[in-house]
Amino acid sequence: MPGLVLVSTPIGNLGDVSPRARAALAGADLVLAEDTAHSARLLSALGVRARCLSLHEHNEDARVPAVLERLRAGQRIALISDAGTPLVSDPGFRLVRAAIAAGLPVGAVPGPNAAVTALVLSGLPPLPFLVLGFPPPKPAARAGAFAALRAAEAAGLAATLIWYEAPHRLAAMLADLHAVFGDRPAAVARELTKRFEEIRRARLSELAAHYAAEAPRGEITVLLGPPAPSSAAAEDLEPALRAALGAHSLRDAAALVAAATGRPRREVYARALALTNDPPAAKPDLP
Ligand code: SAM
Repeated sequence: MPGLVLVSTPIGNLGDVSPRARAALAGADLVLAEDTAHSARLLSALGVRARCLSLHEHNEDARVPAVLERLRAGQRIALISDAGTPLVSDPGFRLVRAAIAAGLPVGAVPGPNAAVTALVLSGLPPLPFLVLGFPPPKPAARAGAFAALRAAEAAGLAATLIWYEAPHRLAAMLADLHAVFGDRPAAVARELTKRFEEIRRARLSELAAHYAAEAPRGEITVLLGPPAPSSAAAEDLEPALRAALGAHSLRDAAALVAAATGRPRREVYARALALTNDPPAAKPDLP
């Protein structure tokens, strides 16, 4: 079929290429690849001869008009990334958005993804989960990003959090996670689907100490379990309740926040009642 097809490729094990993925690549008029040299090795291992063109973070915008032109002419164009599912922490979103806006056909050949593979092996709650890509590499920005997530948890977010991380930053990242989120159950998935696959499931303090003592190698995905339902401190309820009271009755707001935080409904209701009698301090009038 003509159109753009998003083809998932292995995250380390060539045996994970699906027959549909191979057929889509073999039948494509053009394969857009994040790194053409890297993908040439994959195509050659699959015995597929295909015309390849680079599409990466820095040239994606510039490539879009010509790719849309080819799609309008009825070509079959496959998009792959270096590993796993394109667009997931990889290039392709701007092209897909443009193709959809132009009314051109877009399809997918689903397949490997490091985040979901790590999630199902982690032993942490599988739903809901939140894939955050790479954390900011600089320590201050990383701590700020983690603090923002902790604040979202205080307002009710209760998901397994998933990040990609480079091996040389893993120990520092785990130490920051421990500092911000406390000593929660977590997991580090390394070299998934490869010969030295390893999943380490432990509390953050243990994982941080382990990887500080032993520098890891290879591809790494980090997972953090959700907060325990009872861990929301009483003062954490206030921002969530104030937001909920802005849109709901007292009763509904209390029910919503009780469900979001796992706190007893009666306790949340009492706190909501107290808040309605104690509105936030008014801002002083300007002179
Ligand atoms: N699009 C990819 C996917 O669907 O999984 C993810 C792309 S992201 C740029 C690449 C990162 O994913 C790596 O740096 C690593 O953190 C993680 N990753 C990729 N392969 C992995 C593997 N085999 N085991 C663990 N993590 C992996």
